[in-house]
Amino acid sequence: MWSLLLAMSAAALAFTAWLWWRPAPTVPVYYRRTINDVELNWKCDAGHSFVARGQVADRPCAMCDQPAFVITPFECPKHGVTEVAARFTYGADGAPRLSQYRVYQGDWFPAMDSVPCPHCSFPMVRKQTDLPDAVTRGKKKSG
Ligand SMILES: [Zn+2]
Ligand SMILES: [Zn+2]
Repeated sequence: MWSLLLAMSAAALAFTAWLWWRPAPTVPVYYRRTINDVELNWKCDAGHSFVARGQVADRPCAMCDQPAFVITPFECPKHGVTEVAARFTYGADGAPRLSQYRVYQGDWFPAMDSVPCPHCSFPMVRKQTDLPDAVTRGKKKSG
């Protein structure tokens, strides 16, 4: 009789302890679209353009094996569109993000919202947001 009561209260205590001590519910990691999931325009230093999935590492050109970089167009209101090469790095959360830009095979510089126009230094605006922070295209499925 007593032992049953004891067992029940012990169970209740254990349950309370479990409620109290259980770890915070793990937030499911929702699938986040990154550069690895979209096809981007790449261009190598020799000028070959091709389309391939984004990746953090430089991708060798599909034609000449030189390093190729993701190309994203920026627009100056005066001088039109300039192709800007982009590089990525892994952020603190492990997701790839833009890290560097380069204009006309010049020096790499930290990626910002705007890039100075090579002709007039006016801050150019990214023309087409096909990079992962604003991807709207559907995910392509491939084996
Ligand atoms: Zn090439
Ligand atoms: Zn300009």
